[in-house]
Amino acid sequence: MFITRKDRRIVDNCRAKARKATKLCYSPGCNKNAIMSHIQQAEGPLRLIAKEGKVMQLMLNNSFEINPWRFQKAGIREGDILRFWGFCKECDSNLFKDVETTDVDYYDYRNLLLLSYRALCNELYKKEYNLKQFDKILKSTEISSACREQFEYKKLLTRVGIHHTHQEKKLIEENLINFNDKHYDFLIFKIGEINICGSIYFSLPEAFNLQRALADLTNCQRREGSYFVQLIPTKETTFFIIGRRKQMTHGYYNFSTLAIANEAYIFEVINEILLKFSESWCMSIEYYDQLQNKGIIQLILSTMKQYSRPEMKLEAMTFNMFNYK
Ligand SMILES: [Zn+2]
Repeated sequence: MFITRKDRRIVDNCRAKARKATKLCYSPGCNKNAIMSHIQQAEGPLRLIAKEGKVMQLMLNNSFEINPWRFQKAGIREGDILRFWGFCKECDSNLFKDVETTDVDYYDYRNLLLLSYRALCNELYKKEYNLKQFDKILKSTEISSACREQFEYKKLLTRVGIHHTHQEKKLIEENLINFNDKHYDFLIFKIGEINICGSIYFSLPEAFNLQRALADLTNCQRREGSYFVQLIPTKETTFFIIGRRKQMTHGYYNFSTLAIANEAYIFEVINEILLKFSESWCMSIEYYDQLQNKGIIQLILSTMKQYSRPEMKLEAMTFNMFNYK
């Protein structure tokens, strides 16, 4: 698709403007300004895989670059390393205190709900920020019609995404108050040392069917196909935790199969989630160097690009980054 230099300038300007806007706390009823919240504990999982306080973070490039993503070295206490404008200082420390300790119980339902909640709010933040940017772009009278068409489509997808994410957010908030009645299922695996840290919320492509998505928007139906994934390095092992709503009947991942799957299959699933559905993860510098020396980083980035289009999300993936350990 042809995008003019002028389009590119407008898009960049709009991104900068959208980023400047202050963000309110995501906690219901709180009107204070948000601070930068971590989606994984800095002085826990992130510190464990960091070298001199730094890790390799997956970053989104300018939308018109040849590849949408790159890895960049960054400090776990600075920049965008698994951080977002999520909650005010008070809510951030009160709400998440049970998952910000040195000895988090990853088998505790409420803790898993809290981690999922933070991953979801991170995704919501990104979507809302994108929508602000797209609105600004579409208001411009100077963009080309090709550019306008692309951003109108993006805006529609993003609006649908925000709508569903808000519904899921509400459900988790209800369950956080009354967590004896469990609304979500979680599977917990110990997968050894993989030096990847992530906290992920993603939704499955049934709703990438735009007709269906638009119908959902008007009917306010709740979408079932959302997953919560944690990759958490600890001193002994790495936890891979996947969660979804309990009553899900036709999910993309079959939890009964997954619960008894062998390690190779689990790694296939992790690979697919990282490369198809998420950008909220980072890896240790050492692991990055190993993969880079074998030419695997390029393959990871090109695979991510290949599967970034909505219609590719249900296609099987042949590349597996864990086959090159
Ligand atoms: Zn607050």
